[in-house]
Amino acid sequence: MVRTPEGFKAAFDQIRDGGWTAIDVAEEFGGQGLPYLMHTAANEPMVSANMALNMYQGLTHGAYTAIKIHGTDAQKACWLPKLGSCEWTGTMNLTEPHCGTDLGLMRTKAVPQEDGTYRISGQKIFISAGEHDMAENIVHLVLAKIPGGPEGIKGVSLFVVPKMLVNEDVSLGARNGVACGALEDKMGIHGNATCVMNYDEAEGYLLGEAHKGMRAMFTMMNEARLGVGLQGWAQSEAAYQNALAYAKDRLQGRAVTGTKNPAGPADPLIVHPDIRRSLMDQKSFNEAARAFTYWGASMIDRSHKMGDAQAEAMISLLTPIIKGFLTDKGFEMCVQAQQIFGGHGYIEDGACRNSCEMPELR
Ligand SMILES: Cc1cc2nc3c(=O)[nH]c(=O)nc-3n(C[C@H](O)[C@H](O)[C@H](O)COP(=O)(O)OP(=O)(O)OC[C@H]3O[C@@H](n4cnc5c(N)ncnc54)[C@H](O)[C@@H]3O)c2cc1C
Repeated sequence: MVRTPEGFKAAFDQIRDGGWTAIDVAEEFGGQGLPYLMHTAANEPMVSANMALNMYQGLTHGAYTAIKIHGTDAQKACWLPKLGSCEWTGTMNLTEPHCGTDLGLMRTKAVPQEDGTYRISGQKIFISAGEHDMAENIVHLVLAKIPGGPEGIKGVSLFVVPKMLVNEDVSLGARNGVACGALEDKMGIHGNATCVMNYDEAEGYLLGEAHKGMRAMFTMMNEARLGVGLQGWAQSEAAYQNALAYAKDRLQGRAVTGTKNPAGPADPLIVHPDIRRSLMDQKSFNEAARAFTYWGASMIDRSHKMGDAQAEAMISLLTPIIKGFLTDKGFEMCVQAQQIFGGHGYIEDGACRNSCEMPELR
C-alpha cells in the first residue's frame, strides 16, 4: 500500500466534492461541459499550491480524454463517469527500464484471449500516481505489443488495465494482476508516488485500434505535456508571489534615489533597481506563459470539440515547445525568485520553508 502524505486525501476529497476535476467533463458523464481552457485556468492555483497533489487529478483527466476520444461507447460508459469525478484515478504507462524515448523497444506484451480481452505482462517504471490510497480504483492506460504485430513503434497498442476489475454494473470485482513493485526515490515532487508497476497477466482491454497505440496515447500525452508546461510557470508564479512579498518586507540598504522608508532603519528590498528588474522578469514570463498555455488549451478545444484539423496540427507541433520552454524558463525564474531571499533562499526556515515544504511519502 502506498500512503500519500497526511492531508492529501482530505484535500483531494474537497477538490472532487467541489466538482473541480470535472469542469470540462462532458455533461453526459457527470461534468459541467465547459471548455478545456476553463479546466486549465482553474488548474493554475492548484498546481501553484501543491503540484504533487494536483498530478493525481491531472493524469486522471488525461486518461478521461484518451478514453473519450478513442473508446467504444461501452468503454466510455464504464470508465468515464468515475474518471471524470476522480472517484477513480488514471495513469499513463509508457516507460520501461530499457526504453524511455525510444518506445519501439518496448517489451510489455498483450496476449489476445478468446473473450476479446488481453493478458498484459511486463514492467513499467516512473509511473506517476501509479499507486496510492486516495481512490478505490486506478485505471492504467498501458502501451504494449500484441505478439505477431509489426516491429518497433508500429506494433504498439494501447490498453485499459484497471487495478480492480469492474463488474457489468460498474461495481468493483476482483483484484487485477497489476501491482506497484517499488517507489522511485526522486530528487523532488516527493508527494507524488512515482511507481514501478508490474503487470502479471493482468486483464486489459484494447483502446482504439490495434497497433495504433501511439496515436491514442498521444491524446493523453499532449494533455499531460501541456500540463507539465503549466507546472513550469505555476511554480514560477508561486515563487514570484513569495519573492514579491519578501522584497516588500525585508529592509536592507537605502534606495539610490533617496530614502523611501524614513521611519525605518533601511528601505525594503523592492526599492533596488536590480530587485525590481528580477521581479519584472518573473512577472512578465509568468503572464506570457499563462497566455501561451491558454492559447494551447484553446487549440485543444478547437481540435476536440470542433474537429478543427489545423488547430490539431498546430497544437501537435507546439506542445513539446510549451512543455520544454515553459519548464526550462520557469525553473530559471524560480532561481531568480530564490535569489531575492539572499542566503535565506537556501535555508529551510521562515517564508521559504512555509511555501516550499513538501511532505514525504511514508
Ligand atoms: C518525475 C517523473 C515522472 C514520470 N512520469 C511518467 C509517467 O507517468 N508515465 C511514463 O510512462 N513515464 C513517466 N516518466 C518517464 C519519462 O517520460 C522518461 O523519463 C522520458 O520519456 C525519458 O526516458 P528515459 O528516462 O529512459 O531517457 P532516455 O530515453 O534514456 O534518454 C536519455 C537522454 O537522451 C536524450 N535522447 C534520447 N534519444 C535521443 C535522440 N534520438 N536524440 C537526441 N537526444 C536523445 C533524451 O532527451 C535524454 O536527455 C516520468 C519521469 C519522471 C522523472
